[in-house]
Formats: sequence, structure tokens, C-alpha cells
Amino acid sequence: MIRKELSFSKGKRKFLFCADSTEEKSLHDFVHQAMEEGIQFDFHIVGEEPDSFLDMWFNQQKMGSYLYISGGWDFVNRVKKIALAAGFSHEEMQMKVTGPFKKKLICCTCHAGNPIEDEAYITCRNCGAELEASTHYSPRLEAYLGYVSI
Ligand SMILES: [Zn+2]
Repeated sequence: MIRKELSFSKGKRKFLFCADSTEEKSLHDFVHQAMEEGIQFDFHIVGEEPDSFLDMWFNQQKMGSYLYISGGWDFVNRVKKIALAAGFSHEEMQMKVTGPFKKKLICCTCHAGNPIEDEAYITCRNCGAELEASTHYSPRLEAYLGYVSI
């Protein structure tokens, strides 16, 4: 689940903190809390590392690790993809996006994908239908469904 704010997850064996260079501060409170509670953690600020580096990092983790990702939309989604491929589930991670969301809205008329941020209504760039953004998310399409608005 991508959200605007993170919450501290209890009862984990180890935390992995992963941020881009502009967002590392947003994780400091969690690092602090992990230290106070004596929970193991890794902290990694991602710069120019290739995906294979993150893939290796995730693959080294034992069961029960919990992942926090913080950064811009593209960064968060990139790290999320690598983590999922390495065997993390959606329940084992929390993500925070700073700045604009770059969601995709699928037109229910022509099935074209339309980029959106936080708009509630858009015009389909393919067929011109007036669409209302729903909260219905399709993990398969990695997109939200847009319904024709009247
Ligand atoms: Zn359309």
C-alpha cells in the first residue's frame, strides 16, 4: 500500500529502511524506534546502484524482515518491484511517496491507460470519454479503473 505517512510496524524481527537521498530523513524516527526496541535493521540510501544491487540485498534477508521505502513515485515503485521479485509480499512492506503520484487510470470504454496524479476527473486521451477516477485498483494492470462520468 502506498501512502502519504508511514506507521511503525510492531513485532518484526528486522527492518530494512530504503530511501532516496532526499527522503532519508523521513525514516529517522523509525530507525530511532528500532534502536530503542533493540530490533535489527539495515538502512540504505539508494543513489546510482543498479537494480541487481538491491536485488542482492533483498535476497540476503531472512524471513520476517519488514521493508520501508520512502522517496519519489518512480523510486518507490522501482524498489517495490525489485522487492516483490525477491519474494517480499505487500504485507511485508510500507511505502511512502513524496511529491506527485503518477497513477495510471484505465478507461472503461477503450481500455487505454491515462496518466493521472490526484485528479478526480479526466478526459481519456484515446477516446475522449469523461472519466471519473475510482479507488478500484487492479494489481494485474497496475492501474486504477476509470468510469464514465455523467
Ligand atoms: Zn478511452
